[in-house]
Amino acid sequence: MYDMIIIGAGPAGLTAAIYARRAEKKVLVLEGTTYGGQIIKTMKIDNYPGMPGVSGPDFAKALYMQATSLGAEIEFENVIKTERAGESFKVTTEDDEYEAKSLIIATGTKYRTLGLEYEKELEGRGVSYCATCDGAFYKDKTVVVEGGGNTALYDAEYLAGICKKVYLIHRRNEFRGDKALLERVSGLSNVEIITPAAIGGLLVFAEKMRFLGVWLKETDGETGKVVSDENVREIKAAGLFVAIGSEPNSEIFSGLVDRDERGYIIATEDCKTSHPGVFVAGDVRTSGLKQIVTATADGANAASKAIDFLNSL
Ligand code: NAP
Repeated sequence: MYDMIIIGAGPAGLTAAIYARRAEKKVLVLEGTTYGGQIIKTMKIDNYPGMPGVSGPDFAKALYMQATSLGAEIEFENVIKTERAGESFKVTTEDDEYEAKSLIIATGTKYRTLGLEYEKELEGRGVSYCATCDGAFYKDKTVVVEGGGNTALYDAEYLAGICKKVYLIHRRNEFRGDKALLERVSGLSNVEIITPAAIGGLLVFAEKMRFLGVWLKETDGETGKVVSDENVREIKAAGLFVAIGSEPNSEIFSGLVDRDERGYIIATEDCKTSHPGVFVAGDVRTSGLKQIVTATADGANAASKAIDFLNSL
């Protein structure tokens, strides 16, 4: 029996593990893919205090080493179920079953898809959700980015340094991303911003499942809603980068803790969920800012509250 099972080994989960181990609790971290979460896809982190320009994979590795050298156990297994089992919690993975007196959920978010025909089949073969991971494949080519937040703006800027031409498509006139960043992107000679518009479909050579570009639909610049189904413009391109935000990885916890209408786990600022003994940290929690610094702060808070909970048993 573990004192604490932490689900997710991103910055929030690994920070929670560091704090819990420093309080000498028996800790297991379960992670479905690899440690680091979304930061391993970030080439350069510019906004983590005290570490300007640190690479995402280096930062993730340092967190992992710190947690494991303090004695946190980590298993790379996909969690499929979590439930109350008497006084404790049972966590079922695809390979095993574990028990703990407390849980910290730190499962983060997953990227949102456009839901277009052929989008799934073309992932990794023309359609990408990570410019820093796949941008180099499109050197000197034309690419399209869709989205209006900071991710889309950073992607457009990053890709402009590699690609011949970048089309940035956004469904509203106003961008959600930072003004200074938008100004920088607008000033790049090989970036063309098209608003208001949305990608209505993918141009595909279906026989060979080859991505050829996108076609655009007209949208309302205020609401972002599609005005007509008509194909207003075709753009030939070698790649599409979808950067339209993300959704919480919280489905498996739906019977255990309360979630809001978008699926984020409802919690207090000190990371307590609706279920005593279950805490939540990082992007999967209802919160404003979703950054590495807020995820690590959550990890510390969630672990500290879980430690209080364990000490009160
Ligand atoms: P986001 O801020 O939620 O922006 C998503 C964008 O995609 C919005 O502009 C949205 O349009 C658009 N969108 C959503 N669904 C769409 C659909 N079905 N079709 C077309 N467009 C759609 O997501 P994000 O850019 O990934 O950023 C997430 C958080 O991370 C933000 O807080 C951001 O500031 C932060 N972030 C920070 C950094 C950094 O500081 N280094 C880098 C990247 C991200 P509407 O505007 O019309 O809703």
